[in-house]
Amino acid sequence: MTSLKKFLHFWAVAFFPSRCPYCNKVIDDSECACKRCRKQIPEYCWKTYAAGGYICAAALPYKDAYSKAIHKLKFKNRTDLAKPLAMQIVRAVKELYGDLHFDLVTCVPMHKINRKLRGYNQAELLARECAELLELPYLGTLEKFKQNQPQHETSKDEREKNVRGVYRLLGNTDLSGKRVLLIDDVITTGHTLGECSRILMKGKCAEICCAVVCVASVNKFIAPG
Ligand SMILES: [Zn+2]
Repeated sequence: MTSLKKFLHFWAVAFFPSRCPYCNKVIDDSECACKRCRKQIPEYCWKTYAAGGYICAAALPYKDAYSKAIHKLKFKNRTDLAKPLAMQIVRAVKELYGDLHFDLVTCVPMHKINRKLRGYNQAELLARECAELLELPYLGTLEKFKQNQPQHETSKDEREKNVRGVYRLLGNTDLSGKRVLLIDDVITTGHTLGECSRILMKGKCAEICCAVVCVASVNKFIAPG
């Protein structure tokens, strides 16, 4: 680190210390959670599937303190939680995909109007942190060009239809032969990740592997290890 970076880092830590995503206790910025919450974190990750059969690694069940952490990241401006939550994604990626080499990390995009309203896309923050932790390039590859109803506001039966045809490849994205790690915050029915994967495959990707922080309906998907 340069001395300016060290100086800025010192003040950032002094005024905005890292906090445990699950209980808000101050933690060291190299930690993913406080000691107590770390002990509660499930030992194994989940192997789930997005629509279309795309494999997805998930680190945590979407409930209790874990769903609250996602909620803070998404709706309460807690962008500082992207790093510790990305550490969970990386844990699941390493457990499920082992030494598989990825060429790049990308994310589920937001419509530009919604992104402007929120000020950021939480999936992009998570993907950028994952890329840094995995020492891989991050690349924006997709665009959401049609607004739809938020997936969580639609019924399970409507979700497949709701995401169909709302994404497209960004400009000159060339993904020929690449193995892509696609990141989102939560997998519920898997239709969003499935539709994004379908579009990425149109870009001639060799393979798509998905990874998320949380999996909802773990009963349906559960497969530890
Ligand atoms: Zn904690």
